[in-house]
Amino acid sequence: MIRAVKGTRDLLPPATGVWNHVEEVARKVFRVHHYQEIRTPLFEETLLFARGVGEETDIVTKEMYTFEDRDGASLTLRPEATASVIRAFIEHRLDQRAGLTRLYYLGPMFRRERPQKGRYRQFYQIGAEAIGSESPAVDAEIIELAVEVLSQAGLEDSQVLLNSVGCPECRGAYVSQLREALREVAASLCGDCQRRAQTNPLRVLDCKVPEDQPVIAALPSIVDRLCAQCTAHFDTVRRYLTDRGIAFELRPRLVRGLDYYMRTTFEIVHGALGAQNSVLGGGRYDGLAEALGSQVRAPGIGFSIGEDRLVMALEETQPGAHQPVLDVFIVPLGAPAFAEAARLARELRRRGAAVELSVEGRLKRALEVANKAGARHALILGENELAANRYALKNMATGEQESLSREQLLATFEPGT
Ligand SMILES: [Zn+2]
Ligand SMILES: [Zn+2]
Repeated sequence: MIRAVKGTRDLLPPATGVWNHVEEVARKVFRVHHYQEIRTPLFEETLLFARGVGEETDIVTKEMYTFEDRDGASLTLRPEATASVIRAFIEHRLDQRAGLTRLYYLGPMFRRERPQKGRYRQFYQIGAEAIGSESPAVDAEIIELAVEVLSQAGLEDSQVLLNSVGCPECRGAYVSQLREALREVAASLCGDCQRRAQTNPLRVLDCKVPEDQPVIAALPSIVDRLCAQCTAHFDTVRRYLTDRGIAFELRPRLVRGLDYYMRTTFEIVHGALGAQNSVLGGGRYDGLAEALGSQVRAPGIGFSIGEDRLVMALEETQPGAHQPVLDVFIVPLGAPAFAEAARLARELRRRGAAVELSVEGRLKRALEVANKAGARHALILGENELAANRYALKNMATGEQESLSREQLLATFEPGT
C-alpha cells in the first residue's frame, strides 16, 4: 500500500475546519488593513533561494527540495515566500505604484527537516510583507497586524519577543566581537554551533540545544552595540508599539535564521507549543532586493505564521472548536417528498444553512446517520406532512419536535436568526 511521504500528512475533516477558520480570519484581517493577496509559484530558480535565504543557512545547505528540470535548469520548491515576493515585486516594478506595497500570501512551503511534533516537510505559512519604506512606523504596523491575526484567530496569551539585529555597519563590528568571544567557548558548544562560529557566528545565538544556552546567554549582546541610526529606529519602534498598547519583551539574542534580516526582528511564542514554541517570526529585510542583484530598492518588513503550529495551539486551547456545522438533515419518505426535499434543501442553503439530504429511505436508519453526522436538526418529510404543509423539525440535542409550516420553517433559518 502506498502511503503519504515521510514528513508530509493529509489534513482531514473535521480538523480542516480549524484550518479554514484560521485562513478566513487571516484574510479578513488583511482586508481591513488593506493588504492584498499575492500568489507566487511553488517552485523557483534555485539561485533565488540561495541568494535570498543565504548560502550558509541550514535551509539552503540541508533542507531544500532541489531538482534538475528536463532542460537542465536547477529548480527548488519554495522553502519560504519572502524571496519570491521580493522577486515578483522587482520583476513587476511594483515600486512604481503609489505608496507602500502591502501584500499577503498563504500556502505550502517545503523543507526537508527532521520530522517532529509540529514540524512537517510540507508545511503551511500565512504571511504579510510591507515593502517600500524604512520607516519604523511600518515595523509597528506589521507587528500590530501579526498580533491581530493571531488574536482574532483565537490564540490567547501569546507573547511578542522583539530585538534589533542592527545594520551591516554596526552588525559587522558586533559579529567580529562575537567571533572573538566564541573562539574561547566554541569547543563546549554543539557541532552545528562550532561550524556556525566559523561561518555565520550570529546564528549561534539561534541554537536551540539546551546545553548550549548558558554559554550563549553569556555572549556579548547586540543591543548595546547598535549604531546611532539603528538605536533611534529601535527606540521609535518600541515607542509606537507602546502607543498602540502592544506588549512586547526584549530578547537581545533573538536573531532570525535568514541572512537578509536587519534592524527589527520579532517572534511570537505560545506556551501550548512546548519548547519549540514559536508560532510566528518576522523582521526587516532592507538588503534583500540588493542581495538578489536588483537595482530597484525594496526595503521591507514582514512576518510569517507557522499555520501548522497555530492550528496545533488552537486545537490544544479550544478543543472541538471551529468544526463544520450541519444545520439540517432532511429525511424524505417517498418519491413526492424527495422532490420537495430537494427544493427545500436549496432554499435553506441559500439562506446560509448547511443542509444534507438523506439518501437513506428508512426513517430509523436515516436518524442514526443524522446523529452520527452531528446534525443540529432532522427534518422529516412524509406524504402526510406534504399534504398538510406541516414540517416536523426535530432538535437532535433535546429530542424535541416542532410542527412548522413551510414559511415558518424557512423563517427559522433566515440569515441572522
Ligand atoms: Zn546600525
Ligand atoms: Zn548549538
